[in-house]
Amino acid sequence: MKNKSPTILITGAARGIGFAAAKQLTDRGAHVILTSRDPVRAEKAAAELGCESLCLDLTDQDSVNAAARTIEERRGSVDVLVNNSAILLDHYSSLLDLSPDTLRQTLETNLIGTFRISLAMATLLDRSPDARLINVSSQAGQLNGAPQAFAPAYSISKASLNMLTQQLAAAMPRIAVNAMCPGWCRTEMGGQDATKSPEEGADTIVWLALDAPRSLQCQFVNNREVIPW
Ligand code: NDP
Repeated sequence: MKNKSPTILITGAARGIGFAAAKQLTDRGAHVILTSRDPVRAEKAAAELGCESLCLDLTDQDSVNAAARTIEERRGSVDVLVNNSAILLDHYSSLLDLSPDTLRQTLETNLIGTFRISLAMATLLDRSPDARLINVSSQAGQLNGAPQAFAPAYSISKASLNMLTQQLAAAMPRIAVNAMCPGWCRTEMGGQDATKSPEEGADTIVWLALDAPRSLQCQFVNNREVIPW
């Protein structure tokens, strides 16, 4: 990325993988704006990193509109959008026990919320000479292997997010749009038995944001390598 201090918006980055990515990107000189639904948590995390914060709830259109207005006023454009926010409500449950409400709630954040913020940022991204959009997905949403039963609502949301990635790439060809999987990381979502640190999980996000060739477009990436959708 040519711009020495790109403006990077990372959703849900007051903790976990998003926070680790915000730290690494700030350390690399990027102008990071991290978000949380809780303004106090957002400010505390941003103060720790020396970056900016915003309050943002992806399930609330007014909140998304307000965030877009604030970023436009403060920065005028966005170079990189990292759609990191997600919820996992049905960790070990079976599809046959999944309630439609849990599925709806999961899709509302992981899919529709991501779509909402991506739309709201489209104009600001379009003003960047090197715009990138990174959807933090999961191999739980991969369709190429044997049938799997892990977290059905979450997995369905991530498979849908992968298709959203392809649709965004087709609709916004000037923007390098990719999805990535951070791997199993020790966070509130991943639990303490996970094999990777949040910092290791954030590595591919940082690479896609600052270092990946612009020719990398509409791919699913893990450990800096393209994997099947
Ligand atoms: P965490 O649960 O630690 O963080 C999730 C973040 O999502 C929180 O910071 C939360 O922000 C934010 N969030 C939740 N709901 C909303 C909402 N309605 N609006 C805005 N933000 C919201 O998870 P991880 O750090 O582990 O996960 C980060 C990403 O990596 C996710 O997309 C996840 O699916 C993916 N991933 C994680 C894996 C793992 O093993 N940890 C494995 C594969 C993928 P706040 O509560 O502050 O508002």
